[in-house]
Amino acid sequence: MIRIYKCPSCGGALQYRPGTDEMICPNCRNTQAISAVDQKGADGKPVGLTGQERADNSGSGAENMVCPACGGPLTTNDHTAATFCPYCKSPALIDSRFAGQYRPSRVLPFQFDKKEAQNKFKTWKGTGLLTPGKFKSAATMDKVTGVYVPYWLYSYAGNVSLQGEGLNMRVTRQGDDEIIETDHYELDRTVQTAYENVPADASEAFPDENMHVLEPFDFTKLVNFTMPYMAGFTADTYDYSAADLNEKIRPQVEQNMVNDARATITDYETVNIVSSQVNYTDQRAEYVYLPIWTLIFEYMGKKYPLYMNGETGEIDGVVPYSRLKALAIFGIAFAVFFLIAFLLGRVF
Ligand SMILES: [Zn+2]
Ligand SMILES: [Zn+2]
Repeated sequence: MIRIYKCPSCGGALQYRPGTDEMICPNCRNTQAISAVDQKGADGKPVGLTGQERADNSGSGAENMVCPACGGPLTTNDHTAATFCPYCKSPALIDSRFAGQYRPSRVLPFQFDKKEAQNKFKTWKGTGLLTPGKFKSAATMDKVTGVYVPYWLYSYAGNVSLQGEGLNMRVTRQGDDEIIETDHYELDRTVQTAYENVPADASEAFPDENMHVLEPFDFTKLVNFTMPYMAGFTADTYDYSAADLNEKIRPQVEQNMVNDARATITDYETVNIVSSQVNYTDQRAEYVYLPIWTLIFEYMGKKYPLYMNGETGEIDGVVPYSRLKALAIFGIAFAVFFLIAFLLGRVF
């Protein structure tokens, strides 16, 4: 089913209003509490990482991809979950892409609206004197789009066992001689460690290097998932499963767990660890959506993607510089230089 939340006053399509728990009608400004629009709570559960993936394919059902407001065909692909009708611009949500294996457990809602995102892009420190004037144009700023990016949040807990030896030096005196002796201690220690909410971008379209720059997100702002938060934004389902990314994330976290355990051994001057093991007591992944404002700036036939954290406003990306502006500034500097040289020449 394709879902559009209708305004009870005018029949317009309600959208999530960033920074609130409400939906708003862009036509008549009527607002509705999300809890009144959709009473279904979150039913997405964290995924266990014991190798037993959820074999639930109910989230890939075929849909009649037609806008329920105007009957126009929607432009979608196999991953489209939240989009807009290309004809009447209504925010359209595809039910089955938020169900079954694709049911998120939580969402971090956008904390500020498109207008504020546009202002943040315009005043971003990554732009300057040489940024093409076109960047701040209404046409460019109109392309700012809110995207909920699918993420897995990994949590691990376990006991780290370390084996090795600790060394302490001892200095004794015999007459005028200093004798240095080394005491050896056998080490066998087990330390409990835990990591919570390690984020991993589950979307192919969003480059990891940009996403890392936008972190951190404040995960205390996550709320139980309900679909109204997605209305007015675009979203795709994940490309990488919890098990896929676990293979990348767990070794990194495991190294940190071993290092943390190692750091608790402070009673020796030198510590040599010979072996370490981690016995996991808990491994989980939670499917969530995190808010990103995007802006694809097109200039001289090239595309420059910019990304903004929809919670903190942090921006990453590169804006090209205008050769025309650079030439103009160089030209003015050149002219000023010769004018000064000329004037100095007349004085002396
Ligand atoms: Zn309305
Ligand atoms: Zn439509």
